[in-house]
Amino acid sequence: MMPESFLDSFDFSKDLSLYIHVPFCISKCDYCAFYSVPCLSDDVLDAYTARLVSEIDAVSRRMEGRPFVTAFIGGGNPGCLGPVRLGRIVQAVCANGRPSEFSTEMNPESLYEDYFPLFDGALTRLSMGVQSLDPAALRFLGRNADLDRTRRGLELSQKLKAFSGCDLSYDMITCLGDWHDELSDIKAITSGYPSDHLSVYALTLEEGTPLWRRNPDLPDTDRQYEILKEIWDYLEAKGFEHYEVSNFAMHGFRCEHNCRYWAYRQYMGLGPGAASTAFSEDGRVSRISFRQSASAYVGGGLFEGFDREVLSSKEACEELVLMGMRYKGGLDLSRAEEFSGVSVGRAIDPGFVSTLGGFHLEGGSLVPDDDGLMVADAAASTLLDLLY
Ligand code: SF4
Repeated sequence: MMPESFLDSFDFSKDLSLYIHVPFCISKCDYCAFYSVPCLSDDVLDAYTARLVSEIDAVSRRMEGRPFVTAFIGGGNPGCLGPVRLGRIVQAVCANGRPSEFSTEMNPESLYEDYFPLFDGALTRLSMGVQSLDPAALRFLGRNADLDRTRRGLELSQKLKAFSGCDLSYDMITCLGDWHDELSDIKAITSGYPSDHLSVYALTLEEGTPLWRRNPDLPDTDRQYEILKEIWDYLEAKGFEHYEVSNFAMHGFRCEHNCRYWAYRQYMGLGPGAASTAFSEDGRVSRISFRQSASAYVGGGLFEGFDREVLSSKEACEELVLMGMRYKGGLDLSRAEEFSGVSVGRAIDPGFVSTLGGFHLEGGSLVPDDDGLMVADAAASTLLDLLY
């Protein structure tokens, strides 16, 4: 596939969000199946940054002065780049103006005050992968940072917020096993380190990972439900809105970038493991994936090394439904109708909605309440059965 066709797949007259994949980590966590490699030499990190910045520059030129609507630098651990390289990327993203929300992920052990100036007028949000404040859990997960280094990073993140006013989000993992006090871990983060946003994920065993090989005794589905329900109730009592299956925000602090993703809006992914959802001007939806190793990426030319799959309208509808029913923005029924060709308004009557359990109709969308979030995947599959 010719590199130019990457850009030609997008409709630049529509709002565009940008995701950047940084494929470097200090070490590999025992549960992680994401593509990442150890922080390599300065030469590799420089070459990665140079290709990425050139690609962002080329995209910015196509946008004719309009900024990305949102941007998110994820990983991996973007902290492996260091403040100078990350600064070059941030500057390139802001060439046409600052996105309304601009996040970077960062692991606690990688945050230093040298990063703070990037949050003064450019980055608006820090998403920190904390995962636990229980030292036994950090060891169980094979995290790079022990409790001391995790707390040091958290304290710096609080200082960063005081310095820049940026939004703060922390990621936590739960459902580790009977030996672990799941709720106390969540209480430790909310009481010790105030944040605007929390992501709480249930641990899953990913095939091939060290944790999968150890095959620990994890909670079964019923126990998971109990643990998650207890955590969700606790966070709601603390003032967080539960707005997506795994995500909680104080009022006005939903992650706008991820909401656009769940609402199935156009976004571009750059970097070795990044994927894009592109809406071309003729209305077709494409999934474009870079499937390169980090070393192939740094050795390749601009926009080289991607696969593009044009989705059928059924495939696009399935994605729209599966994501829309997992968050409180809801499933836009007119778009489901557009993709499926089925008159959704007629198919979905109040009787059908009540059979889904935990959903309601609101302004042309099918919206989950808290119970609906717990059964979102099953409800999405029931709806798709009705449509197809
Ligand atoms: S830091 Fe994140 S991406 Fe890197 S190995 Fe751990 S979980 Fe995976």
